Amino acid sequence: MEKVKVLIIGSGPAGFTAAIYTSRANLSPVLYEGIEPGGQLTTTTEIENFPGYPEGITGTAMMEDLKKQAMRFGADVRRGIITDIDLSQRPFRVKVDHEHEIEAEAVIVSTGASAKYLGLESEQKYRGMGVSACATCDGFFYRKRDVAVVGGGDTACEEATYLASICRKVYLIVRKNYLRASKAMQERVFNTPNIEVLFEHNTAEVLGDEGGVTGVRVVSTSGEERVLDIMGFFLAIGHHPNVEVFKGQLELDEQGYIKVVPGTSKTSVEGVFAAGDVKDPHYRQAITAAGSGCIAALDCERWLLAQ
Ligand code: NDP
Repeated sequence: MEKVKVLIIGSGPAGFTAAIYTSRANLSPVLYEGIEPGGQLTTTTEIENFPGYPEGITGTAMMEDLKKQAMRFGADVRRGIITDIDLSQRPFRVKVDHEHEIEAEAVIVSTGASAKYLGLESEQKYRGMGVSACATCDGFFYRKRDVAVVGGGDTACEEATYLASICRKVYLIVRKNYLRASKAMQERVFNTPNIEVLFEHNTAEVLGDEGGVTGVRVVSTSGEERVLDIMGFFLAIGHHPNVEVFKGQLELDEQGYIKVVPGTSKTSVEGVFAAGDVKDPHYRQAITAAGSGCIAALDCERWLLAQ
C-alpha cells in the first residue's frame, strides 16, 4: 500500500493552489486530477477576471500554468479518480480507479461542483460558443447584444440582472408560472426594463452556426413556439457539488455542499480539509477557489505539524 502525507483530490484552481502551497511546505502532495482534469474552467473560453492577466487567458492555458507551477515544486500530479475512501480511521484509506490503494495522513477535497445543463444535443454542441453556465465569466462577451438565461431561482435572477447591465436585452426563460427566487431578487428582475420574463416556457433547441449561438427556440406550455434571436445562452438551473464518494462520511449542508468550520477549510472529520466550489455554493469564482485552496493547504500544514 502506498503511503502519502497529503492527498489532494481534484484539479481545479483550489486543488492546484493547495498543491503549490503544500509542495512548497515540503509535504510531498499527491494530486489526483479526477473526472475532469483542470475542472470547470477548461469548459469556459477566455478568463478576464483573474487578477494578474491583463490580456486575459483561456481556461485551459490557466489550468496548464497552475499545474506546471505545482509540479515545479514537486507536487505529484496524477490521472485517476478516487473511487473509494474510508475517512473513519487515520491514516485515511483511499482507492484509486478501483485498484490502487493509498494511505493518506491528510486529505484536501477540491472536487468542485458541476453546473447542471438541460441535456439538449444542441446545447452541448454550442458549449463554449455561446452556451455558458456562468454569466460572471462570459457575460462581457455579449456586451450590447441580446442573451437568454434559463432558470427561476436566485442565480438566474442575479445573472439576468447582471447581464441586463451589459447586454441590450435579456430573456429569462422560466418553466413554471412563478420565480422561485427571493422576493427582493424578483423585484430587481421585474424592475429592470430590459429583462423580459417568459413564464411557462421551455427550451426546445439552441440554434447556431459555425460562429456560435444565433438563437433559441422556446415552446410555451400551451404549445406556442417562438425563436429568440440571441448570441448568449446562459444556464442557471443549479449546480451539484461533486461529493458522491464522501457521502455519509463528511457532513454536508442541506444543498449537499461540504460543511466547513466558518472561516476555515476544516470539515467534520479531523485531517480532512475542503476547498473550492465543493464547499462554496455562493461565489464559485476561480480566484475564490484558489484562495480557499491556499487556506486548506495552510490549515493542513498546521494540523500535520500539531500531530
Ligand atoms: P435553485 O435550485 O434555487 O433554482 C434552480 C432554478 O432552475 C429553478 O427555478 C428551477 O425551476 C430551474 N430549473 C431546474 N431544472 C430546470 C430545467 N431542466 N429546465 C428549466 N428550468 C430548470 O438554484 P440556484 O442556483 O438559483 O440557487 C441555489 C441556492 O443558492 C439557492 O438556495 C439560492 O437561494 C442560493 N443563492 C443565493 C443567492 C443570493 O442570496 N444572492 C444567489 C444565488 C443563489 P423550478 O423552480 O421549476 O424547479
